[in-house]
Amino acid sequence: VEMPIHDAVLGRAAEFGELPALIDGVDGTTLTYEQLDRFHRRLAAALVEAGVRKGDVLALHSPNTIAFPTAFYAATRAGASVTTVHPLATVEELAKQLRDSGARWIVTVSPLLDTARTAADKAGGVQEIFVCDSAPGHRSLIDMLATAAPEPEVDMDPVQDVAVLPYSSGTTGMPKGVMLTHRQIATNLAQIRPLIGTGPGERILAVLPFFHIYGMTALMNAPLRQGATVVVLPRFDLDSFLASIQDHRITGLYVAPPIVLALAKHPTVARYDLSSLKYIISAAAPLDASLAVACAERLGLPPIGQGYGMTELSPCTHVVPLDARDAPPGTVGKLVAGTEMRILSLDDPDKDLGVGETGEIAIRGPQVMKGYLGQPGATDAMIDPDGWLHTGDIGHVDGDGWLFVVDRVKELIKYKGFQVAPAELEALLLTHPKIGDAAVIGVYDDDNNEVPHAFVVRQPGAEELSAGEVMMYVAERVAPYKRVRRVTFVEGVPRAASGKILRRQLRERS
Ligand code: ATP
Ligand code: MG
Repeated sequence: VEMPIHDAVLGRAAEFGELPALIDGVDGTTLTYEQLDRFHRRLAAALVEAGVRKGDVLALHSPNTIAFPTAFYAATRAGASVTTVHPLATVEELAKQLRDSGARWIVTVSPLLDTARTAADKAGGVQEIFVCDSAPGHRSLIDMLATAAPEPEVDMDPVQDVAVLPYSSGTTGMPKGVMLTHRQIATNLAQIRPLIGTGPGERILAVLPFFHIYGMTALMNAPLRQGATVVVLPRFDLDSFLASIQDHRITGLYVAPPIVLALAKHPTVARYDLSSLKYIISAAAPLDASLAVACAERLGLPPIGQGYGMTELSPCTHVVPLDARDAPPGTVGKLVAGTEMRILSLDDPDKDLGVGETGEIAIRGPQVMKGYLGQPGATDAMIDPDGWLHTGDIGHVDGDGWLFVVDRVKELIKYKGFQVAPAELEALLLTHPKIGDAAVIGVYDDDNNEVPHAFVVRQPGAEELSAGEVMMYVAERVAPYKRVRRVTFVEGVPRAASGKILRRQLRERS
């Protein structure tokens, strides 16, 4: 699809007119499709008037708000590449992303202004900081809507121009800036569309962050392209999340596994009326099949579908179609159109594996990123000369083409020559009624063997749960080489905004 993303997403906005595009889940403020369309065009004009030029990088530094999409599409219409920033980034993290991306402009919100200012001073090169709301000394996007400037005619090249520059989650290393062109994003939206079609009348809850590629796609670009209504929450807390589903009659949820876990296990869930829900889709991290079943059964929903992807893939390659009745439990889905996949041997990366054999997932297709910004070496390490992107994830496919993701290559624990997937042990631990949450990493024992070390959160009221009981529970259910050999009880499992376990932080504590 060779179209700038603001046109690909908002092409039908005028037609959707007075339908609500975005609703603030906290105070109920609504933005209609007509307003979203008009405001983002006005704002694009104002940004060009303020000096934004084609190819400039604009950092969008904000929690989820109803203004976020307006700022986002205005920036791309003005010709900028948008680098989205974690709203809880520290000054150092923000300064690093500003410097690395070469950002010239920042859009932020007043509560984050101090961080933005200090980071901009450190990074250098930032010309102006705009605020979505209002703050003394800074231009407000709301005031900028009043501009008399004509709508900009920016000469765009959807194939080459970078629309967004998100940073990967930094789960396995330093976050890297991922260059995604207009065509890559627009094509991926078209690839997903026939499989999970939201549309007018659907109400989607945006609780995962827009700044991460998953939220940006599933909670912003895809539903706004289709005339659905997006109810926006600035952060996750279980009660306001559940209350929003109930009060706004939410029909579809796109979440990450920790939220599925809460929906399956947390006692509070029973206090809310969640009967408006029609489906739940999980992505971004491994979801255990039995947990998915427990969640769907508790809420009386069809099986929870999954999607699979990564920032470098714009982001999606696999999804379980909403109407699939034959999807086997635990699958992340089938390949989207126009995309090829290979499963490569972990021992011999040139060897293709067959049905049921587990190896590294490699992908080729129009959604493969343009590259990492300023890191050609890292790009070449990931995308081979034939265009195959080596995902670093391990999985296998069944005879019908359903993909199963096991874990990441880097996170496999090698116990005396055997491979143990942390995700498998985590899923098993979560089936214990006294365990509220769990994470597993490999650590070295006194004999220099890498062994599984579990970090376990006790369910409320289960203080008596002991390390011995946890190890015994696992030992009774897995082959001896997979046994958990160390247990640490913790208050919580550290996770990224996208729901991924931050194993690096656990490693520091082991
Ligand atoms: P970094 O690359 O900076 O270390 P990251 O890989 O966590 O961070 P993302 O691009 O946000 O950054 O995440 C992509 C990864 O998420 C995939 O490579 C895969 O490991 C995981 N993932 C995504 N969807 C699923 C899924 N349905 N099941 C299992 N894992 C998934
Ligand atoms: Mg990654």
